[in-house]
Amino acid sequence: MSSECKNRFATLAVHAGAAPDPATGARVTPLYLSNGFAFETPEAASDIFGLRKSGYSYGRGGNPTGAVLEKRIATLEGGTNAVTIASGQSALLVILLTLLQSGDEYVSANRLFGGSLGLMRRLEERHQLKVTFANPLELDNFEKAVTERTKAIVIESIVNPSGDVVDLAAISDIAKRHNIPLVVDNTLATPYLIRPIEYGADIVFHSLSKFIGGHGQVIGGIIVDAGKFNWAGDKRYPLLSQPWEDYGGIVLADKFPQTAFGVASRVYGMRDLGPGLSPFNSFLALTGTETLHLRMPRHVSNAQAVARHLAAHPAVAEVSYPGLENHPNHPLVKRYTPEGPGAVFTARLKGGEAAVKRLISNVKVFSHLANIGETRSLIIHPASTTHRNMPPEERLAAGLGPDVVRLSIGLEDALDLTADLDQALKD
Ligand SMILES: *Cc1c(COP(=O)(O)O)cnc(C)c1O
Repeated sequence: MSSECKNRFATLAVHAGAAPDPATGARVTPLYLSNGFAFETPEAASDIFGLRKSGYSYGRGGNPTGAVLEKRIATLEGGTNAVTIASGQSALLVILLTLLQSGDEYVSANRLFGGSLGLMRRLEERHQLKVTFANPLELDNFEKAVTERTKAIVIESIVNPSGDVVDLAAISDIAKRHNIPLVVDNTLATPYLIRPIEYGADIVFHSLSKFIGGHGQVIGGIIVDAGKFNWAGDKRYPLLSQPWEDYGGIVLADKFPQTAFGVASRVYGMRDLGPGLSPFNSFLALTGTETLHLRMPRHVSNAQAVARHLAAHPAVAEVSYPGLENHPNHPLVKRYTPEGPGAVFTARLKGGEAAVKRLISNVKVFSHLANIGETRSLIIHPASTTHRNMPPEERLAAGLGPDVVRLSIGLEDALDLTADLDQALKD
């Protein structure tokens, strides 16, 4: 790994974590569809089960195809280790359940992917994980939401769906002042655009279903451990700092100081709770990573072109894309992601909800899908779909009123995308 780490992003995106298969020489990482892995001796079996040795045992806890994806994404993000998981949603679930117990409190950005907001509300109702929502774009108010009971902060680096870029360094300072881990959902940015660990994030996660998989084929997630938070002796995080009696009294923070959060996510999150990622989905997501550095610039330049075109269109009241120079969030784009803030944004139509629905019905190149971040351009009405469960006033505050349409810009020719929107906006 050490020589690998000197390589640049594109080389790492193609190679990190992979080598020719020692058994066969296969150059592509093989798809190991085996849920069991033979132990060499009874002692080796017992050591692997007891976390005294690393190795594969049963596929619920990890598999060799997923392991390459884990090394690849951990390297691209600058983390020490990673854990593949069934979906982006389950990545957030496992992170919250690893850090928190019933009655614990955390602070989350109020602008997040709709599914994350829904999960957080449900966990509060049913399992008493108390969440305080605050606007991550208003730093003073955000810090005021943090109390001495707060055990974690959760934000998105680029907000789904507004495209706003969050001041990661400032929020990381808040987390450090209060000595709590910062969790960053980096799905919309991908490590190509932003690497949150460089700004102080402790845990990064992704939905692999979006730009990393990149082709609209897989549901998957991954958790990356920065390996920097000092859990040792910190009673607020018992899974990390207290003995696991059923594992011979092992203390993860002491035994695995660089990788404790990843180990906890694997042993508790995958072995106990069970939401592993299938090797097949790891295989497809791994293929996606190998072109990430080629796809992202095209996603972003197409998004910039479509946003600019819509901003000048007479039927459009407002475009949220912070890549546009006059957008209030543009200074943070320049600082954190000078190539542009990803390829997902919203637009408000002068004709209101009826105009949004007409646009969605009329497009021919865009597809009407709930997904984002794939080769094809996608369109949806968040207020009646992805964000329908939000209270209407919160939805409005998050910039998702009934007159708002969400776009995810794909890899087609930008001129065909703007032409498609033009014909669809004519009535
Ligand atoms: C899609 C998405 C998720 C959830 O991921 P799934 O793979 O769909 O479960 C989480 N965060 C963001 C920002 C997303 O866009």
